[in-house]
Amino acid sequence: MTDLPRAQDLGMMGCHVCRLITAYTEDPHARCPRCHNPLHPRKAGSITRAWAFLISAAIFYVPANLFPIMRTQSLLSKDDNTILSGVFELWRNGSPDLAIIVFTASIVVPVLKFCIMGFLLTSVQRASDYGPRQRAKLYRFVELVGYWSMLDVFVVAILSALVHFKVLSRVEPLPGVIYFGIVVVLTMLAAMSFDPRLIWDKRKAR
Ligand SMILES: [Zn+2]
Repeated sequence: MTDLPRAQDLGMMGCHVCRLITAYTEDPHARCPRCHNPLHPRKAGSITRAWAFLISAAIFYVPANLFPIMRTQSLLSKDDNTILSGVFELWRNGSPDLAIIVFTASIVVPVLKFCIMGFLLTSVQRASDYGPRQRAKLYRFVELVGYWSMLDVFVVAILSALVHFKVLSRVEPLPGVIYFGIVVVLTMLAAMSFDPRLIWDKRKAR
């Protein structure tokens, strides 16, 4: 399967904007003859940019976990919860289903995304020819879960809305949620910057 030729092996390349197929060129100033968009065989600086977004996301993930994400307040008590303590709180208060959703969305998924993107980037940099199809699948998985990553923020929003209906208790979002939102956006940008076609490049010379 990996032996199928790439567009550039056939002397072709595509325009990113209008998808016109043109003759392959290494010229960095080449432009699409139809829409005049700059032509690149691969996204320019894709690996560096993806690493930059990924590392920033990992840095922001620390305050996202350390700072409280929401405050539950009732007449007698006031509780600030981080993601993890919020998960325990939900579990104890009889919403294990919600606890599992929040745990998956805010701990499992981001960590999984960091690992997968890190693995994809290192394997591409090392010109590995290990399981390109599996790696392409991993990439599609990261892209797919990207759409669902804001789930956690939505859960806080929904909780706040639900609890607001009760008179004596309230739930407020706290700054941790902002850090979490930044992590989600940065990992999505990392996935978008990565050019999955790189997986099929640099295969060992046969
Ligand atoms: Zn074009």
